[in-house]
Amino acid sequence: PGFDGFKLNKQLLEAVAESGYTQPTPIQQKAIPLALAGHDVLGIAQTGTGKTAAYLLPVLMKVKYAQGLHPRALILAPTRELVMQIEEVARQLAIFTDLRIVSLYGGLGPKTQIQLLDAGVDVLISTPGRFMDIYRKGTIYTKDIKTMVLDEADKMMDMGFMPQIRSILEVIPSKRQNLLFSATFSGRIEHLAAEFLEFPERVEV
Ligand code: AMP
Repeated sequence: PGFDGFKLNKQLLEAVAESGYTQPTPIQQKAIPLALAGHDVLGIAQTGTGKTAAYLLPVLMKVKYAQGLHPRALILAPTRELVMQIEEVARQLAIFTDLRIVSLYGGLGPKTQIQLLDAGVDVLISTPGRFMDIYRKGTIYTKDIKTMVLDEADKMMDMGFMPQIRSILEVIPSKRQNLLFSATFSGRIEHLAAEFLEFPERVEV
């Protein structure tokens, strides 16, 4: 079955075709229907498997179109490079929508990033550290966040981001959908999932 077997809208299906994706990858085949149905998902998949689109397509479908000023989906990733990569895929998949995608990362002053946030954002992609920095300046309204993605959760744990992630989870609504992706499965990922996910569906490739 191709992408048109998923409950995605025309804008997203056209962007998928435009991206040259003809067949969903195994992780997409498994994760997309579960995420679209509203489940929390624990995905075990490495880079190169198509994991980014596996969570981005359901996120973009749920957020759907530009609305209000504040983020409704938050994607956290360990590094600036990964955040930029996710942003690129998100822009590509959202090309036929009016969704506003903003990314936050360290290495340059927060001013431009804050200006972009203030102009309105639907999907926010960030490293945990930069998110908390900007949040503490009072410039991220988090109450509309209904979906949270943790990408490369194992790496975020390795890099010592758990305290920041815990702080972030305390300031976003507890009623939300969670998509957690990790390259590896281990006891600590199981613990993380048990702590933050609600009846997660586990998918693995
Ligand atoms: P990722 O694992 O998300 O880093 O994706 C790895 C690469 O696979 C990226 O270059 C994507 O553009 C590409 N990709 C993702 N999904 C598909 C698909 N269904 N068909 C072909 N390429 C894909």
